[in-house]
Amino acid sequence: MIHSRTLIGGSGQPPGGPATSAGHLLQLLRSNVAGHSRADLLEMTGMARSTLYERLDALFAAGLVYESTPLRSQRGRPPRALRFDDRNKLVVALEIGHTHAGLHLLSLGRDIVASARIPIEIRDSQDLVVDRLTAEALRLLDGRQPVGAGVGLPAPVDPLHRLGLERTVLAHWDLQRLQEVLGARLDCPVLLENDARAMAVGEVREPFESLVAVKVSTGIGSGIIVSGTLVRGAHGAAGDIGHVRIPEAAGRRCRCGRDGCLAAVASGRALLAAPQLARYRTLRQLVDEDGRDPAVGPAVAEAGRILGRVLAATVGTLNPGRIAVGGLVGVLPGFLDACRQQILSDAFEPSLVDLKIVPADSRTSTAVGLCRLVEESLYAPERIEQLLSQRSG
Ligand SMILES: [Zn+2]
Repeated sequence: MIHSRTLIGGSGQPPGGPATSAGHLLQLLRSNVAGHSRADLLEMTGMARSTLYERLDALFAAGLVYESTPLRSQRGRPPRALRFDDRNKLVVALEIGHTHAGLHLLSLGRDIVASARIPIEIRDSQDLVVDRLTAEALRLLDGRQPVGAGVGLPAPVDPLHRLGLERTVLAHWDLQRLQEVLGARLDCPVLLENDARAMAVGEVREPFESLVAVKVSTGIGSGIIVSGTLVRGAHGAAGDIGHVRIPEAAGRRCRCGRDGCLAAVASGRALLAAPQLARYRTLRQLVDEDGRDPAVGPAVAEAGRILGRVLAATVGTLNPGRIAVGGLVGVLPGFLDACRQQILSDAFEPSLVDLKIVPADSRTSTAVGLCRLVEESLYAPERIEQLLSQRSG
């Protein structure tokens, strides 16, 4: 269970002071897991008592707020806390990889309730993959109704899904259709996000943190949080560092169709294609032999070193406080050490002060990030206003 909620995209307060809509009241309650008393809310918002109570009534009626155990008090009858009602609300998180999908059910408190790992082949038709994933999701849900679903995809994801996926591993997928089909089968709103970006959101530990999360599995991607705000870029491709051209990859063919990409030499796919590692058929087999097969360690370290060169530029551009490296390859100690050494050697000193370069919590951070993003989208003030006006209309 979480004790404080870091809201991606700022405090939720509009510029110019606290807003007083029901949606903003809910935002205030969501930002503090312990909740607030009515007196707190009156003081924080400066609202008239009658208006506040009216807005709270609407939130109670919609099942969005509940009254919990009394808050501690110095004297007199202790006030009761009002809290965002995150009880019995489930989110489905789907992490779609090149050869596997991770499926998780999470509570809105971001505890993982159930998980499954499903072999898929991303080159298969979208319908085939979606059929398998929804069947498994419905099995895990076992009749329970999710409030929303988040899907992490190994490709740039434009919030409006306008971006061409032609050169990506999802070239044959239609994201709008994906969202519609999943929404219909799971009977809930569906949010799509780049997987490394979801991982970055799941890695946030403090408000207003600046961090870069890098995912190195079959491909390479990164997610960027600057001062607590997720950066998507103009067309959803922020952090897509895998296909930047680098000298080490000159003449090496990348799966995107170009020559010389970072992913052509530093990704899991590149490792599997190395002649000395030709005996491995899957990336999982290869990483499992790290430390046992003398051919694996040096290849993994070289990949980490090359990634470090590109990340040094990211460090210079963004000055993050933390770089969290995840993914099957990214968490290997030899990969991370080589990557760290290269960043420390290449980046300019002022941007390295207090920089932490650490393994990501790969097991859960993408699912937790998707859950956070789903929650923020479902309970955004403008969406709550819309919901309440529909109920009263
Ligand atoms: Zn490429």
